[in-house]
This record gives sequence, structure tokens and C-alpha cells, in this order.
Amino acid sequence: MKIKRISVYQIDLPLTHPYWLSGGRLKFEMLDATMIQIETDDGLTGWGEGTPWGHTYLPAFGMGLRAGVELLAPHLIGLDPRSPEAIMRVMDLQLPGHPYVKSPIDIACWDILGQAAELPLWQLLGGDDAAQVLVNSSISTGTPDEMIAKIEVAAAKGYTVHSAKVGGNDIGLDIDRIEAISNAVPTAHKVTFDVNRAWQPGVAIQVLNSVTARDWVEQPCETLDQCGHVAARVTNPIMLDECMTDMEAHFSAWRQRACEGVKVKPNRLGGLTRARQVRDFCVSVGWQMHIEDVGGTALADTAALHLAASTPEPNRLASWLAHDHLSVDPVAGQGVRNLGGHVVPPSMPGLGAVPDLNFLGHAVAVYP
Ligand code: MG
Repeated sequence: MKIKRISVYQIDLPLTHPYWLSGGRLKFEMLDATMIQIETDDGLTGWGEGTPWGHTYLPAFGMGLRAGVELLAPHLIGLDPRSPEAIMRVMDLQLPGHPYVKSPIDIACWDILGQAAELPLWQLLGGDDAAQVLVNSSISTGTPDEMIAKIEVAAAKGYTVHSAKVGGNDIGLDIDRIEAISNAVPTAHKVTFDVNRAWQPGVAIQVLNSVTARDWVEQPCETLDQCGHVAARVTNPIMLDECMTDMEAHFSAWRQRACEGVKVKPNRLGGLTRARQVRDFCVSVGWQMHIEDVGGTALADTAALHLAASTPEPNRLASWLAHDHLSVDPVAGQGVRNLGGHVVPPSMPGLGAVPDLNFLGHAVAVYP
């Protein structure tokens, strides 16, 4: 089996509401999504999505993704898509780094591998069951009352796990947010306070030793070293996210004892191939994970949730659904959907979600 054609589609994904991160430093209203279609010489077709969360969240952006695919695609025509690790080695040789470019190509190859093997991705990735995965709400930064109101809206949809976005210049306001939310959320629920790297280490130590925060604190500072410095001086378990760009970062975090858990995101790491390697390392060192993608439609969510569902239950925390924040649904009704606080990955062969070609319109590039 050989890759015959790679088609690239671009779509804009408007968010239902403007989304604020990092104490209001970062605002998001529209995502630039790239859908990759890989066709093979024997008639199978695979899909992958690459949707950075805007262009200020990570070193990744939609135009860069498509430029990278333009560079890589000629090297992939004629290769066997059922060997995603071999495809990854070719992509790494032709374009070092740039994991977010490789992720949608890699996911499309996994989709084809699953269809060829007649197995769902959760099984190919190591699962023995289409396991239920709890879903994690995402609560945009605001006043304590605004954030509690958003948590109540999420709870009405069945969410019992919440990610509250904090982190700003006003230390007192962050302390108020954390205290108010910790006290307001029902005891049966879980709350992570996600700082999205906004604090300096001194601020993180000051805030976290002034509050009785529920559960995890996520990515308090910009760098791994800064987060490790904080982790040694506070009592909450630390989750790392944005600074975990590759396997080396995970080794460094483990050596430094910088965290007890991480976010595993295919688009940040380079697709399911790399995310699975990271997941397996995290299981081996006893870390807990939120496995989800950085943004996108239900197609991106479904790819990530196959990996989440295949992860041992003790290591698997809840997963966020990016598509829940969109006002459009280009994979209408397919893939993972919130079933009152949890999702179940599809059990059809492959990825189990195909975008609506009418929604995608014309391809912006076709290779060869
Ligand atoms: Mg985060």
C-alpha cells in the first residue's frame, strides 16, 4: 500500500465565546484549522487534523503548518502509511522539529493503519476496551463569580472535572479566584488551576502557599526549570503542559522531580506516534495524564481520545473536548461527544470520524 495523494483543507473555526488565558494576557476568538486527507493506491483514505490554539499559545500556527506540509508531502508520496513510525523518521529527516506540522499527517496514517487492520485506534494504541473517559471542562479567566458561574454551566452538562484558568499580574485576585473556586465547587468534583505559564516563580510560591487549592496546579511558570523550582516549594501536585515539547523534556522533568503529571497533546508532540511514546513513559514513571489535543474539531478530539481510552485507568485523568468551544461542527455528529460527563471512543476501524466535504470546500493544496 502506498500514499497516492495528500490533500490539504483550511477552515476557520470560530469559538462560541471569546476565550481568555493566562490572567487575560491571551485572547482567542477564531482557530485556523488544517485538515489533511491521505489517499492510498488501494482505495483507503485517512484523515488528520492540525489546529493550533491560535498563534500565541504555543510555537505553532496554521500558515506554518500548511507551509510545512508543502515541504514534507513530496517526500511522503509512495511510502506505506501503515508504518507511521517509519513515516515519522522520514519527516524528522526532512524537517527537524515542527511537531505540529507532522501531527495531522501522522494521525491520517494511523487512520489508514486502523482501517487496513480492521481495528479501532484505541486497540492499536494498547487498549483492551472502548473505555469511558471523563471529560474536563475549561473555564476561561474572569472574576471569581464569573468563573464559578461558568463551572455551574459546565456542571449542568455533566462535567465533574474542571480546569480553571488563572494567573495574572494581580496576586490578590489570583488568591481570590483559587479560594473562591475551591470553596464553591462540589466536593465530588475535581478542579485543576491552570496558570498557563503566567507566574514568575516567586509569585507562584507566594500564591500557592497562601491558598488551600483543590487538586492540581498546572504550568505555573514559563520554563521547566522554573516549574521545577516551584514544585519543590509547594504542596500541590504539579501538572506540566506547554513546556513539555518532546520526550527529552519529559526525561528532564522526571529527573528534576518537577511534576506528578502532564498533559499529553498530539499536536504539541508530533501526532499519535510521539504522544503514545510519551504516554508509555509517563505510565512507567507513575505520572497521571490529561490526554487531549490543543484545539480543533471533534476529529482532533477523537484522535486524542483514542489514546486516552487506551491508557491505564490509574494514569488517566479527564480529557478536554476542544470542539465543545466551537460554534461550527465540520464532523457533524461523529467522533467523541460529551455523554453527560464522559466520552467513549468510536469502535469502527481506524479513527472513526470523517469531515463533511461540503464544509471543507476546495482543497488549498493537493500533492502531487
Ligand atoms: Mg494547560
